[in-house]
Amino acid sequence: MSLVKIFSVSSRVRAGGASSLVSRHVQYSTEAKTEKVYPPKEPGYMYVNAVDPNMTMKALSDRAAQTMFWTELARGFAVTLAHIFKEPATINYPFEKGPLSPRFRGEHALRRYPSGEERCIACKLCEAICPAQAITIEAEERQDGSRRTTRYDIDMTKCIYCGFCQEACPVDAIVEGPNFEFSTETHEELLYNKEKLLSNGDKWESEIASNIRADHLYR
Ligand code: SF4
Ligand code: SF4
Repeated sequence: MSLVKIFSVSSRVRAGGASSLVSRHVQYSTEAKTEKVYPPKEPGYMYVNAVDPNMTMKALSDRAAQTMFWTELARGFAVTLAHIFKEPATINYPFEKGPLSPRFRGEHALRRYPSGEERCIACKLCEAICPAQAITIEAEERQDGSRRTTRYDIDMTKCIYCGFCQEACPVDAIVEGPNFEFSTETHEELLYNKEKLLSNGDKWESEIASNIRADHLYR
């Protein structure tokens, strides 16, 4: 039994008791045998691990043939040859760029809500957790009673790009976006203030939002 199954089984024992667990397990076993649908689909649960391999005779014989005749090795070799002869060996940066992970930690940005209101609520968790003490925040209460920053500075020359600030933020306001092309000629240009961070957020919002969506299962 895989770890995910054990986890969902133990969750069900806690939630619904052993009898419902047994009945569901029987139901899943029956579904898996009759409809050959595995893993069973249940609202609220999502498999993130690899699905168990297909154990039908055809699938078993295909896998055995692949192992015996090294077909995967031959196919991999053919793909490598095709790349060598068809495509250049290196990326032609800056005209071509490689793929980036949704978890890439690049230049910082402060995000807004779709209404245009800043997300940051000046809780200062990011400032407290920053191991490089690169963040400086000052805040005050607005007339409507909400709390917002009056100053939000990041010294990008102190930052070690650990990502703790974005992990600590309860409203996904401060994030490390996908931009890695922000080299400068002077130190002062890397002392970011709130306006610079908000304009970064406006510029990269669609990429940042899609990266957060892509990673939501692991947060
Ligand atoms: S990425 Fe790390 S070092 Fe940089 S500002 Fe955030 S918490 Fe500080
Ligand atoms: S960016 Fe997030 S963690 Fe930092 S002060 Fe604003 S709301 Fe708090």
